[in-house]
Amino acid sequence: MTTKHRITLLPGDGIGPEIISVAVAVLKAIAAKHDLEFTFTEALIGGAAIDETGEPLPEATLTACRQSDAVLLAAIGGYKWDNLPRQQRPETGLLGMRAGLGLFANLRPATILPQLIDASSLKREIVEGVDIMVVRELTGGIYFGQPKGIFETETGEQRGVNTMAYSVGEIDRIAKVGFETAQKRSGKLCSVDKANVLDVSQLWRDRVTAMARDYNDVELSHLYVDNAAMQLVRAPRQFDTIVTGNLFGDILSDAAAMLTGSIGMLPSASLGAAGTPGVYEPVHGSAPDIAGQDKANPLAQVLSAAMMLRYGLNEPKAATEIETVVNQVLDQGYRTGDIMSPGMKAVGCQKMGEILLKLIG
Ligand code: NAD
Repeated sequence: MTTKHRITLLPGDGIGPEIISVAVAVLKAIAAKHDLEFTFTEALIGGAAIDETGEPLPEATLTACRQSDAVLLAAIGGYKWDNLPRQQRPETGLLGMRAGLGLFANLRPATILPQLIDASSLKREIVEGVDIMVVRELTGGIYFGQPKGIFETETGEQRGVNTMAYSVGEIDRIAKVGFETAQKRSGKLCSVDKANVLDVSQLWRDRVTAMARDYNDVELSHLYVDNAAMQLVRAPRQFDTIVTGNLFGDILSDAAAMLTGSIGMLPSASLGAAGTPGVYEPVHGSAPDIAGQDKANPLAQVLSAAMMLRYGLNEPKAATEIETVVNQVLDQGYRTGDIMSPGMKAVGCQKMGEILLKLIG
């Protein structure tokens, strides 16, 4: 029986439309092979939405997202909108969508593809085989805790304040995503905190430890964030799934991404409560410097579509097939400019898409 999924497409700005059209073509080809039916609804976000409607996240876009099973986003932003007031900037649309859909978990894989190993700034023997998923809490912690601001003390001195706070509910829901993600991978979960110094981290550690009893098939470990940063660059292969708070996750996921050395290859997922659609998007931005020139690497967008199938639509076989063909194009030596190396075959965004389609058959 055919399984139906409703997908909202948000091409956004810059290279967005070019790379998302490759991902859509790949999804259509995959659907035909796996007895799936996708309904695509395209909506405006970012600069494209500002130009059309005057605001970066029109209500119609949020409604379309809410009515779908998953959202595939490309990227937003560009020089043209950089000087607008904050409320009208493309980034405000992105933040509004995350808040509007209650996306509290950010999943960022850092996988070393053997064909691109020399793009890493670390030695081959350190990064070979690295396959890490960072699960970062996205809507709580020190970026949102109150009080926050710059205040004046009694002596007239300015004092900057942010508050790191997590409630039991906030910790439990992200820990659950961590355990479930580990279950879908190799069953190893490392929770990162600073429980030796921070009370908020002690509560985090207590709750994660307690939840481990419900996941006998997951092997849980804990690391302090300073040690985790050190271990990530010393021996990254020891990690499988990492779950951590907003600030620590922000920093560690960028460090983990750099292990792979190629921004045009990295997908991500932002997830909310069960039953709400997740948003799947490349880690990179809208690359206005190469927009409209057929130079963009569409593979991070295509791998974001694979993440959508695996984590949002529960179609792991279709996801694996996409990941496999991405590996095959690289095996066959095809490269866009950002991942080009001597002896490889240079292709543009469109051509890369055509080769993917041919491999899917
Ligand atoms: P960027 O990721 O867009 O680009 C950084 C560099 O990487 C550029 O040289 C670009 O050409 C290259 N690059 C990025 N993606 C590529 C791809 N798929 N293929 C080939 N090369 C690629 O970051 P930036 O230049 O700092 O930001 C550009 C715009 O994107 C800004 O307006 C920024 O606000 C926005 N941005 C959006 C998001 C998002 O939508 N989530 C994330 C980051 C930046």
